[in-house]
Amino acid sequence: MHGKILIIDPIATNRIVLRVKLAACHYEVMQADSIAEALRLVRRAVPDLILCAATLPDGGPLRLMARLQKTRMAGMVPVIALSCDTDPAERMRLLAAGLDDVLQKPVDDALLVARVRSVIRAYASASEWKLRDDTSRALGFAEPAISFGPAQTVKLVGCDLSAITPWQSELCARSAATITACPPLDAIHQSEGEDDTDAFVLVVAPESGPDMLGLLATIRSHATTRHSAILVVQIEPNATLGAQMLDMGANDLMTCGPDPAELALRLSTLLARKRMGDALRDTVRSGVEAAVSDPLTGLHNRRYAMPHMARIAERAARTQKPFAVMVADMDHFKRINDQYGHAAGDAVLVETAHRLRENLRGVDLVARIGGEEFLIVLPGADLTNAKNAAARLCRVIRKTPFVVPGHGLGITATISIGMTVCDPRTGATQTLPHSAETLLDRADKALYGAKAKGRDRVALSRPAA
Ligand code: GH3
Ligand code: MG
Ligand code: MG
Repeated sequence: MHGKILIIDPIATNRIVLRVKLAACHYEVMQADSIAEALRLVRRAVPDLILCAATLPDGGPLRLMARLQKTRMAGMVPVIALSCDTDPAERMRLLAAGLDDVLQKPVDDALLVARVRSVIRAYASASEWKLRDDTSRALGFAEPAISFGPAQTVKLVGCDLSAITPWQSELCARSAATITACPPLDAIHQSEGEDDTDAFVLVVAPESGPDMLGLLATIRSHATTRHSAILVVQIEPNATLGAQMLDMGANDLMTCGPDPAELALRLSTLLARKRMGDALRDTVRSGVEAAVSDPLTGLHNRRYAMPHMARIAERAARTQKPFAVMVADMDHFKRINDQYGHAAGDAVLVETAHRLRENLRGVDLVARIGGEEFLIVLPGADLTNAKNAAARLCRVIRKTPFVVPGHGLGITATISIGMTVCDPRTGATQTLPHSAETLLDRADKALYGAKAKGRDRVALSRPAA
């Protein structure tokens, strides 16, 4: 089943006709003849969409929205009204109350199903991001999403610029967004690969259908505009084209021509959703980042480093290439804390992380795996490369005192490095990759040796490869 739809209509034949159409498209259908009955059903099982007749024995769609608000279900279940009323003011009232659309009866079957699909899709993807955001938050990874930000940008796209320019001024007067008008060819910045347009309004004149379909496909397929909102405005109703555009990813469709007030209202709903979607995606992304990085130094943490090292070991075994693993530990770090304070100690750790990262290649892994301990993995490095790299790292820490506010002369610090090198070319053929734990253990043991021999040096554990 593609979803559960609740039909609210007092007339049984209307409900049956709708049920047959939706069931043919694999929707599960629930039916109610009044708002009271509908709410009873909603409490039992929340539907994915409500299709509501314009008049019901106990009120209309406005009353339904008010009742849903009370059950805190408003905003969670999309509602579409099916109306015989052609009055634009009535449609505006319903849209302003939070209905997702008002479809004029008789509704074309293909258009109805396409609209149902598009609305359910929009709510499903929003709730999926919301769920991931909740998970990040539950794990303590993410800050709350910010629901304000810079002005959003809208492109009003039409083949006849002189016809759409007046709408541009109408929309500018009603919206905080920055609205520009352009022909279809200029709608996406092909060359820059950068397009942060929040919403596209595609104005479809009867002869521009094919151009606009092409543009819609391009907007949806470009990485930078994949999440942009798309509102299609048909100058003349064309149900087949409208259904096609909804199925290709348009978020909303106006079939009654360009009423500026309705256009502004629909656009503002889409822009608010776009902003929320962006914020949710951002918090989920930064939550994932936070989960694998160390907040003090910005380096990767142990959670990231261990599986990454295992992957490097696997690849090395497969390609028969060498690699080196090091554990670098700050010498007598406790003394630095004791002498200069914990904040100064932190500053030394941050600068150490910076110097290690600066003196290694981009492909090398540097992670903070303990208080003053760093794991370093050099893919492709043989014994000579690794020895040189380790000696260089000791040198860049030793050579320049660490400048810390309040300690004019700077703080002198050193590191010790324990190292293990796996080189299938110099030892017995390595058939199985070493596990990350084994590698870390070997480097750790070598580190004890470096500490025992006096610190500020490199010690090697060279296993039979
Ligand atoms: P060794 O040369 O044998 O490694 O001596 P050490 O003092 O560096 O080693 P030890 O393990 O005894 O102490 C490590 C110290 O590092 C203790 C702890 O207070 C300090 N430390 C751990 N994490 C942090 C941190 O995030 N910030 C600061 N400022 N200090 C930290
Ligand atoms: Mg130490
Ligand atoms: Mg230590």
